[in-house]
Amino acid sequence: MEVKTSLLDNMIGVGDMVLIEPLSEDTFIENLKKRFDHNEIYTYIGSVVISMNPYKSLPIYTAEKVEEYRNRNFYELSPHILNIFSFKQDNDQCILITGESGAGKTEASKFVMSYVAAVCGKGQEVNKVKEQLLQSNPVLEAFGNAKTVKNDNSSRFGKYMDIEFDFKGDPLGGVISNYLLEKSRVVKQPRGERNFHIFYQLLSGASDDTLQKLKLDRDFSKYNYLSLDSATVNGLDDAASFRTVRNAMQIVGFMEDEVQSILELVAAVLKLGNIEFKPESRCNGYDESRVKDKNEMCELLGIEQSVLERAFSFRTVEAKMEKVSTTLNVAQAYYARDALAKNLYSRLFSWLVNRINESIKAQTKTRKKVMGVLDIYGFEIFEDNSFEQFIINYCNEKLQQIFIELTLREEQEEYVREDIEWTNIEYFNNAIICDLIENNKNGILAMLDEECLRPGTVTDETFLDKLNTMCAEHQHFESRQSKNSKFLTDHSLPHNCFRIQHYAGKVLYRAEGFVDKNNDLLYRDLSQAMYKANHSLIKILFPEGNPAKVNLKRPPTAGFQFRASVGTLMKNLLTKNPNYIRCIKPNDKKAAHIFTDSLVCHQVRYLGLLENVRVRRAGYAFRQAYDPCLERYKMLCKQTWPHWKGPLFFLEEKRSQCLEDLATLIQKIYRGCKCRTHFLLLKKSQVVVA
Ligand code: ADP
Ligand code: MG
Repeated sequence: MEVKTSLLDNMIGVGDMVLIEPLSEDTFIENLKKRFDHNEIYTYIGSVVISMNPYKSLPIYTAEKVEEYRNRNFYELSPHILNIFSFKQDNDQCILITGESGAGKTEASKFVMSYVAAVCGKGQEVNKVKEQLLQSNPVLEAFGNAKTVKNDNSSRFGKYMDIEFDFKGDPLGGVISNYLLEKSRVVKQPRGERNFHIFYQLLSGASDDTLQKLKLDRDFSKYNYLSLDSATVNGLDDAASFRTVRNAMQIVGFMEDEVQSILELVAAVLKLGNIEFKPESRCNGYDESRVKDKNEMCELLGIEQSVLERAFSFRTVEAKMEKVSTTLNVAQAYYARDALAKNLYSRLFSWLVNRINESIKAQTKTRKKVMGVLDIYGFEIFEDNSFEQFIINYCNEKLQQIFIELTLREEQEEYVREDIEWTNIEYFNNAIICDLIENNKNGILAMLDEECLRPGTVTDETFLDKLNTMCAEHQHFESRQSKNSKFLTDHSLPHNCFRIQHYAGKVLYRAEGFVDKNNDLLYRDLSQAMYKANHSLIKILFPEGNPAKVNLKRPPTAGFQFRASVGTLMKNLLTKNPNYIRCIKPNDKKAAHIFTDSLVCHQVRYLGLLENVRVRRAGYAFRQAYDPCLERYKMLCKQTWPHWKGPLFFLEEKRSQCLEDLATLIQKIYRGCKCRTHFLLLKKSQVVVA
């Protein structure tokens, strides 16, 4: 008898990698490729979903598809991201979407959310909640995404969203956490990249009237902060996006005057970038900086021109109850201007997230379960890697770590529950890299903090020296001959660089800017100037500028804050049932139909996908709960066909007998399919096919 199931089809490859025979890197990649060529972009490893970015839109997310997947068992249909929900139910879930930049994480998270919205609850109240949850996306993308060389819509912040449901499964609301926005982009973009979308959207899409009120010019080239070599992006319609964003803000619940305030701040950042300075010679031989021209930013924000100008010329340092005023030279004034722009924008972004949270938060406390969706910036290796890449890659290390811990942990727990014997599979464990970065005592972040807080002259070189000294002393920093070493130094490294062997590859970091970006200092004079503004939103964003609340304590460093928030995130994730979507990028050209073997192979390797299959296969790869199994195979066995009346029909012992008979029959079927020998085992709550 020949049976075709969606999981086993030679033409389009195998739907579940555990069924590949024989298993090797080559057969794994070949299978992905076969499927990719047939537009089958999803493949399982047990309950893990591998997703290949098709770089073209496929008709697989339609309402009809959703209905189809909702009503059928997962093995009856070809693998799909929508199935991520059918594996486990009823307890708190989280969906961890990983993969490198441009691999399709954000798109996946959006499909997941639309699916949730499509299948759960109806009614006016519920619909409103769903709409708001969905529409938070375009708003955050406008302010937090940008075109990079890897992705035209690259998320430059990390996002975790908890969606809360009541006992009926209706969504009640949600909470969004954001992780470190890449704010350096506000003032400078690498070649071929853009600033955050919102700037271009506003200038292209706002009405003449709005622009006039904001004192803006449509012409991108008028603004220093906007890169020009890639100001327009193929396939991106900034003007249309602006309307989408405006509409989304309204649905999420922003008031008209709030929207106006937000746009004023966006405009203010552009204006700020146009402020220029000139030196004013002083009799003491020093140059003191002066603002060149009158600036419209002050009018926009209701700040007195002289207040801002003073803040750009002087800096007050408070020491031992004494205030000392020092002058800023031109370079320092530019530095202060950029620091203000970065701070203004990133604070605006955090405020937006909080504001959205206020709108979407659950109104009642009767939540039954939670589903978290994590979409974070993917692993990045650029030509030039700085503090931002270091932070982003650290975050990806942590996620990989959680994948390793949970896949193994979950797998093992399941075997214990089911009374099944289990032997461990060797995995590359990246704990050592996480430790290298985050160890409290001598991790790289701790050393950076130590440098930042140390009195005396602190530079990126002193930081690098410190790393190199540690390199000699600490186990992770052993010389490069050592197999375990993840911190690599050798004499071929360019000046001022260090290299880390991440789980996803070696990355060369340039130490320049690490100290400064970690310090993330904003001169108090500037926050005080902002606080004096006659603009409610900007006042809220710079609370420390309130003279009544002068706090001499230094704010925590950027690295410290990030480490703490990643720590909280990890704790939260560990309390939930994880589901994985592992995204893979098929080529470097953002192009459809191209599958670059070497690139895919590299990702498959570092994501540990082969090991994942091995772990899955070491045990019982293919599992099903009793009832759907009976439902599916009932016609094979005389005890269950044609007189079977449903799952409750059998007493416990009869059920076992029946399943055993079924086992033999199913085994025969799978033998015909040329995959490895299958054997059906009866255990407590599941039928497992090995
Ligand atoms: P990431 O978040 O991993 O950096 P994105 O999700 O932003 O990557 O995807 C990058 C681009 O790839 C998208 O803008 C889109 O053009 C394309 N893409 C990703 N996933 C899909 C998909 N499932 N179907 C069609 N296009 C996709
Ligand atoms: Mg993204």
